Amino acid sequence: MPIRKVKSSEDAVGTLTTTYSGRYFVDEIPEHAIPQGSMPARAAYQLIHDELNLDGNPALNLASFVTTWMEPEARDLASETLNRNFVDQDEYPQTEEIHHRVVSMMGRLFNAPADAEACGTATIGSSEAIMLGLLAHKWGWRKRRADESARPNVVFGADVHTCWEKFARYFDVEQRVIPLSAERHIIGPEEVSEQIDENTIAVGAILGTTFTGQIDEIAGIDELLRQVKQEKGWDIPIHVDAASGGFIAPFSYPDLEWDFRLEQVRSINVSNHKFGLVYPGMGTVLFRDVETVPEELVFKINYLGGEMANYSLNFSRASNTVLLQYYNFLRLGHEGYTRIVGNLMENAAELERALTASGRFELLNDARYLPVVVVRPTGKDGGLDVFALSERLRERGWIVPAYTLPPNAESVAVLRMVVKENFSRDMAEMLSADIAWALAKIDGRPSPQAQAAGERQRRIC
Ligand SMILES: *Cc1c(COP(=O)(O)O)cnc(C)c1O
Repeated sequence: MPIRKVKSSEDAVGTLTTTYSGRYFVDEIPEHAIPQGSMPARAAYQLIHDELNLDGNPALNLASFVTTWMEPEARDLASETLNRNFVDQDEYPQTEEIHHRVVSMMGRLFNAPADAEACGTATIGSSEAIMLGLLAHKWGWRKRRADESARPNVVFGADVHTCWEKFARYFDVEQRVIPLSAERHIIGPEEVSEQIDENTIAVGAILGTTFTGQIDEIAGIDELLRQVKQEKGWDIPIHVDAASGGFIAPFSYPDLEWDFRLEQVRSINVSNHKFGLVYPGMGTVLFRDVETVPEELVFKINYLGGEMANYSLNFSRASNTVLLQYYNFLRLGHEGYTRIVGNLMENAAELERALTASGRFELLNDARYLPVVVVRPTGKDGGLDVFALSERLRERGWIVPAYTLPPNAESVAVLRMVVKENFSRDMAEMLSADIAWALAKIDGRPSPQAQAAGERQRRIC
């Protein structure tokens, strides 16, 4: 017998008005064109909410460095301030004031010269921050170049994030990329010295590479460039990409000199949405001093009788992530960040111990500078397919990427796990157990979990 269709609850003044009783849940959902009619807020919300269940679970996403958890008070603050456009400085002067405080606090964190007012700006992330930093250096070079027809170049290692290559292509600067090798995944002064010349706008150095979590030899590169400045008169700045390391090193290795304590370091970027522990959409570029930022690049906006400087690639953007960074600074302080970073490092070390104890993996790096665990199969297991392992782990919900290293280290295939604030010791143990399960599946052996279940079964019987 056919089921009789009842009239849509949205049209009827009936009592059956639960969300899923509406016709929107039996109709096709609009995908290509804006629908002609409207739908109730509850239905639109529920449809999208349910569809997003197909996404991975952010809490199990070990692929990304980007923050997936903040306190409820931070979420409140973020939703209360969703309606403030960051660029409207005259309408929201207090937001701009907080932006200044955040930049100032970060300048001090990175040891900007005490006599200079912290100089920098919030960005959407490190990519925009790197573009702004390198553009400033490109303009600096234009001012000092001897030959009008000379072509600028930028020197960095193959261990950089793609946004460096993006800068070179978008802004027409020759990129001189120092290749890696299967044994060495960072760059130092020897490699840099072969690439620089009088048209080098900047040397890029990484504090915590995306691929292995290691750091370039920044102090060594600084020493080289100081020497070059003395001998040849080329004043080549360093831009430090501290996207992931900028909120780790100051708390785990306060004596490590990588920042404005080094003379040639003229600009630094950081992703506040990584270990600044802020939700996505927040980075910062900081300059050593105002002289580093050419005036032509800074647009003056009148505001409240004064003049407001604006240096950005975007115009409008959300302001709430800037406010969230201020929230974390007030909430956590140095003490809070130090404790959280300590926990991250401890849990990363625990994960390393568990993985190496299995005998199936060896560490590519030690997670000394970043809470990032990068492993490759051990020699005898050269055949272990890390891509298959990564896929197996998805069945349990874990997102653990497998990839090969950049040129000329492509022969090395690795698994990378970024340990974030919400990855507890308990989660490290669950992940290790699931890796053991996945390895058993790949090998065609009964998994430890299946064996344990068998044991339990026998005990009951
Ligand atoms: C993440 C990352 C970037 C890009 O940062 P976004 O904030 O995502 O734009 C650049 N460099 C390094 C080293 C990174 O880890």
